[in-house]
Amino acid sequence: MVSAEKTDFCSQGPKAGVDDIYCSAWCGFGCTKTAHDRAQAEAKFLCNRLGDGWQPHVWENCGWHFEARKASLRVHAQTQGSKLKGTYIISGYTAEIRAPYQIWPHEVVHSDPQSAVDYTLDLVRAQIEAATKALEAATT
Ligand SMILES: [Zn+2]
Repeated sequence: MVSAEKTDFCSQGPKAGVDDIYCSAWCGFGCTKTAHDRAQAEAKFLCNRLGDGWQPHVWENCGWHFEARKASLRVHAQTQGSKLKGTYIISGYTAEIRAPYQIWPHEVVHSDPQSAVDYTLDLVRAQIEAATKALEAATT
């Protein structure tokens, strides 16, 4: 059971503080406003690169993270550096799909986010084709 105190604690949004801190009480890792603002900007930039229908998503969890979403697709940036401070470099992109289960070939990093999407969708199509053949073989 979640206590009222815990619920109130979790419902608090990020709080500004000294030294650029912009971090929720439930997080407590000292995320910065710089990291938050960069995640917002990177998410919008990524969506613009991908085109129509993509929506930016930013969240806090021991740093500020971002992704682009379109239906059950997600595009993630591979980063090196600090998401607490927003001092990272983006080394590439991966894409995942979450329906009906997660397919995320994150070991293959693409320099272009659209290539990451295409790679993941091709993988999904190949799995559907293999599953369809297996289903037909098992039921005929
Ligand atoms: Zn935080």
